[in-house]
Amino acid sequence: MSVVEQETAAGQFPALKPPTRYLFGPGPTMVHSRVYDALSKPIVGHLDAYFIQVMGDVQQLLRTAYGTDDGATLVISGTGSAGMEAAVANFLEPGWKFVVFANGYFSDRLTEMARRQGADVVRFEKGWGEVYSDDEAREFIRREKPKVAGFVHAETSTGALQSGKAICAAAHEAGALVIGDCVTSLGGLPVKFDETGIDVAYSCTQKGLSCPPGLSPMALSKRAMDALKARTTPVRSWYLDLKLIHDYSTVSHRYHHTAPISMFYALREALLVVNDEGIENRWERHRRCHRQFVKGIEAMGLSMHVPEANRIPTLNTVRVPNGIDEAKVRKLLLDGPGIEIAGGFGPLAGKVFRIGVMGPLATDDNVQFFLKEFGKALKAAGYSN
Ligand SMILES: *Cc1c(COP(=O)(O)O)cnc(C)c1O
Repeated sequence: MSVVEQETAAGQFPALKPPTRYLFGPGPTMVHSRVYDALSKPIVGHLDAYFIQVMGDVQQLLRTAYGTDDGATLVISGTGSAGMEAAVANFLEPGWKFVVFANGYFSDRLTEMARRQGADVVRFEKGWGEVYSDDEAREFIRREKPKVAGFVHAETSTGALQSGKAICAAAHEAGALVIGDCVTSLGGLPVKFDETGIDVAYSCTQKGLSCPPGLSPMALSKRAMDALKARTTPVRSWYLDLKLIHDYSTVSHRYHHTAPISMFYALREALLVVNDEGIENRWERHRRCHRQFVKGIEAMGLSMHVPEANRIPTLNTVRVPNGIDEAKVRKLLLDGPGIEIAGGFGPLAGKVFRIGVMGPLATDDNVQFFLKEFGKALKAAGYSN
């Protein structure tokens, strides 16, 4: 017996047996069984014609998910933050003015990445949970005349949905490009990339697409592709250089990096699951479950953090009732029925629960299951209404 086998036999490293979890948090979310099956398929070489076909399928399926006909889609080997970094590294240059519609944690991350690229970042500030009206967006962009604007479509830290249409229209009028963070929205609610007018969008696999974390699907408008081609200075990040990645994944298929084959299988299957249901049906299922969820929450005497018109249907922020220890509620849910939800952080620490109802969990039965267990945990933590 090898040392490893002996130790395993002795129980020091027991076989993997993850606990059963219902992932009602902001992500990762539940993975569809078809996606788990895809992950177990044998890998081929990353320049094998079979894999190139898989990459091509993924790019094609992403067009539907993003809602783009003329845009280019490609996939970054890294999580959502790698997509964010790719957006910032490729479309900003030192000294360029970048305006950020700040209203939560992820717009802060976008700010930090842009500053590290040497951009001149100008922030428009709002509270966590608020959004920008069309007039505010237009005025800010007309006043600042940036080269690039950035906003977070679905701000996972607050539960607020920022519409992008006015931002994109004003930016284009000013000759600016728009970076839109679609990490939480893609697959769960309409992004409508072309119609909204986003130029550079990035997302992840582990939220609205019901796939494990590991890839960042992006969409680039024609305007963005032109800007990329026109860029004269090399992108400081070699790994995230979109010209190189685009060439590798869609043009020459010459080696850039070794794409994580199994994750591409998984993403392809996750996108097929979306297609089989129909993306509009999927949005509608999430909206219906969201309405049910909110109804149940309000019936318990609780309230939502974000006004109705601005809510993300897949990620709910519920206010923690006065005097209740939110960490205790989360622990009761995890230790009891195995339900994971998240708490708030930053200015919302201790003030909200963040509850995702997405993918396979967005069904009538699962919403009722969640509400019942949540009610029990709140009661056990001292809540009565
Ligand atoms: C999760 C998230 C990210 C970061 O994605 P990772 O996959 O965790 O790197 C960025 N933006 C938003 C809005 C997110 O919800």
